[in-house]
Amino acid sequence: MAEKNQFQAESKRLLELMIHSVYSQKEVFLRELISNASDAIDKLYYKKLTEEKETFKREDHYIKIVPDKEKRTLTIKDTGIGMTEEELKENLGTIAKSGSLEFKSQIETEEDFDIIGQFGVGFYAAFMVADKVVVETRAYGSDKAFKWESEGADGYTIEPTTKEEVGTTITLTLKEDREDENYSEFLEEYRLREIIKKHSDFIRYPIKMDVTKRRKKDDSDEYEEYVEEEIINSMVPIWRKQKSELTKEDYENFYREKRYGFDKPLHYVHTSVDGAVRYHAILYIPENIPFNYYTPDYEKGLELYSNGVLIMEKAPELLPDYFSFVKGMVDSDDISLNISREMLQHDRQLKMIERNITRKIKNELLNLLKNDREKYERFFENFGRQLKYGVYSDFGAHKETLQDLLMFYSSKEKKLVTLAEYVERMPEDQKYIYYATGESIERIEQLPQTELVREKGYEILYFADEIDEFAIQMMHSYKDKPFKNVASGDLGLETEEEKKAAEKETEQHKAMFEKMKEILSGKVKDVVVSKRLRTHPVCFTIEGGLSLEMEKVLKQMPNGENIKAEKILEINTNHDVFKALVNAFEKDDEKFKLYTNILYNQAMLIEGLPIEDPIQFSNDLSKVLV
Ligand code: ADP
Repeated sequence: MAEKNQFQAESKRLLELMIHSVYSQKEVFLRELISNASDAIDKLYYKKLTEEKETFKREDHYIKIVPDKEKRTLTIKDTGIGMTEEELKENLGTIAKSGSLEFKSQIETEEDFDIIGQFGVGFYAAFMVADKVVVETRAYGSDKAFKWESEGADGYTIEPTTKEEVGTTITLTLKEDREDENYSEFLEEYRLREIIKKHSDFIRYPIKMDVTKRRKKDDSDEYEEYVEEEIINSMVPIWRKQKSELTKEDYENFYREKRYGFDKPLHYVHTSVDGAVRYHAILYIPENIPFNYYTPDYEKGLELYSNGVLIMEKAPELLPDYFSFVKGMVDSDDISLNISREMLQHDRQLKMIERNITRKIKNELLNLLKNDREKYERFFENFGRQLKYGVYSDFGAHKETLQDLLMFYSSKEKKLVTLAEYVERMPEDQKYIYYATGESIERIEQLPQTELVREKGYEILYFADEIDEFAIQMMHSYKDKPFKNVASGDLGLETEEEKKAAEKETEQHKAMFEKMKEILSGKVKDVVVSKRLRTHPVCFTIEGGLSLEMEKVLKQMPNGENIKAEKILEINTNHDVFKALVNAFEKDDEKFKLYTNILYNQAMLIEGLPIEDPIQFSNDLSKVLV
């Protein structure tokens, strides 16, 4: 008896999930095993082609499905690259690949076991239908063969065996039928044919099966049965088919078969280009955000095929960072099979394909925005932030490409709008595109600084995402209309008279404001009469390009502790608080100091900024109350 090996902890969990799976579409196990077999043939093809020692004859390579009703087994045989003893251990004893790991983290947050069948869980899916799984395999270049065997979560054995041909044979002993579960169907020809057609039709190697047929006996009216090997799948890769031949479901199946994501695609594009550069591509926008998308772990890239042979699973060179959410594949005859990772970066053809694809994605998104707003908004909720990073990054080099794809929440429409829509609606006399920043839409809605702009009837864009203001500052303007923060000192709204009046008033109270500045020394740059406040007593405005929201973001960065926006404390002279302030200034030094500090801290709170000394603030408030 061979020694029993334990599964790695994650594998064991996944495997247990499979064993106890209540997923109704258990049939997907076959898709998973066929995909693995096809990948294994791809790998062998690639290896032979690049090593150029041996030629790869396509016709020698296939996948064969053999049901055996007597033994109650289903066998999946391939002529792929096979596995060494080490690889067997590594690949079937541990979850190595991200696909399965992603699955794991997903299932922890979702109670729903039904997601099992919606995306790839790989080899372990076999345990949804089988009590026992035996893998016999011989690696390319080796004369040794090994047998891996497992009856479930308590481990597996590996022992030497003999095998004539290179490749892998997987034998499943199907579970017994139960009242509510039928496993015998996976031994029926018609059912297997149905499953293969449904899930694996575009696999590019023949999937063969012995099929029982009937024919008339020679010179008689009697029929006889005979067995003939048949290729079940159509084999033409989906990307080489005509779009008109394909349905939405085909594209969704391909997305799943390829494990581009565990969701459904929100949108897809199929494109074939035949010009200076030739390629086929299928590109997807996922419906959900990949769980690690906004982390450094996420790797962008498309699958790269050279004339139908997979040469790279993730070629990052094919996508700009700002479209890193796009999944899919490119097949080009113009890319050399022997291309290395290093060479990819300098390959002219590849650069051209990337440029083409980028343009294609952009146009597709613009189309979506125009023709299916609801879908576009769903896309934007998920990946809009990436587009905004794109505007900001590389010193604004992509702002032209991306600006028409941006959306922001509008004070008037109460929903997302584009910059073009905003500018379109601007009244003749409006000079700027106004925006306000804050933690959330609800908070921004309440900001005192927006009062005057609202009163003028102008639309305000709400920036609740940290990146927003950085991005538009990089743009500076849109269609020659500069952006303006409603918290900036000069809003470009006040008439000359209004400005003069405010200046005069500031002048009148100069001594008082000077005193306030002294009390708030180092905290505010100036104290002035407000031209914008209507109902609120106090607020901050800013001078220079750095806003309070940006200060908050930059403060969290390394060496950012000392970054400070230049705050101006604006006081509403029409507010009763102002009278109290003047009164205290004239009569009571202590009180004046107290009021000044409270007003300052109020302005801090409005901005969601931390108060330097909350205990002092609380004591100050108490003093006012008694
Ligand atoms: P994934 O396919 O997502 O990597 P699986 O659990 O399905 O995860 O398979 C794990 C690994 O086992 C594969 O990546 C592959 O290296 C290897 N493998 C599985 N099936 C075969 C096969 N039929 N031939 C060769 N290697 C295989």
